Amino acid sequence: MRKPIIAGNWKMYKTIAEALEFVQAFRPLVVASTHCEIVIAPPFTAIKSVAARLDGSNIDIAAQDVAAEPGPGAFTGEVSASMIKDAGARWTIIGHSERRQFYGETDDSVNARIRAALVAGLSPILCVGERLEDRDAGRAEEVVEAQLSAGMRNLTASEASRIIIAYEPVWAIGTGRTATPETAQQMHAFIRSGIRRMFGEGVAEETRLLYGGSVKPDNIATLMSQPDIDGALVGGASLEAGSFASIVNYKEKR
Ligand code: PEP
Repeated sequence: MRKPIIAGNWKMYKTIAEALEFVQAFRPLVVASTHCEIVIAPPFTAIKSVAARLDGSNIDIAAQDVAAEPGPGAFTGEVSASMIKDAGARWTIIGHSERRQFYGETDDSVNARIRAALVAGLSPILCVGERLEDRDAGRAEEVVEAQLSAGMRNLTASEASRIIIAYEPVWAIGTGRTATPETAQQMHAFIRSGIRRMFGEGVAEETRLLYGGSVKPDNIATLMSQPDIDGALVGGASLEAGSFASIVNYKEKR
């Protein structure tokens, strides 16, 4: 059984004070939520404070990115995987489409970041997803397959089994336009078959595949009812405690 993961990506939102205010309101709302793993990815500046406040709780912390170089070293502006771990996070998002689109992230740099995260003992959440023009041109699967195989290149099956994949169609991120559960399921099944081909049946069956792209309290249950959707990576709707708690506490509609 794959335990679901509901992860919130705060992007470049929240000061330390705002992050702690969120945590104070959010924690009691999910204290009894044992059906899934709960992860919050604050900006780097708030990781330590939020992690300290959530110590001993059922909520884990992720970074939103990680340096490709293990470090320490002369890499101005970068934050290494071991620094992230030291600050109290256990996970890191890698290859988010906003990093690919605005900051020159490539499949090669994604692969290097995954290696750096694994070496330091962080769990990578690898983001893949096609742009609207790819989908319209019938290339959605081709694009996702390329991102997946390059991002996970040269990993052993045991390394691959520590990775979580987030399928985030770029046209659904922050747009209010969610992929239909059927479209998301189809791509998730395709991703799982790719993992099966690369790393075998055991890893494919274990790997948790998250959907991301305008997930909200009113669409999470239907998404989660799909057999290959094992959780969600949530942007906008994770910024408010009540809304993110409603997503965490979804009730599956089968
Ligand atoms: C994201 O940032 O990964 C995301 C899916 O954003 P949103 O939920 O706002 O579409």
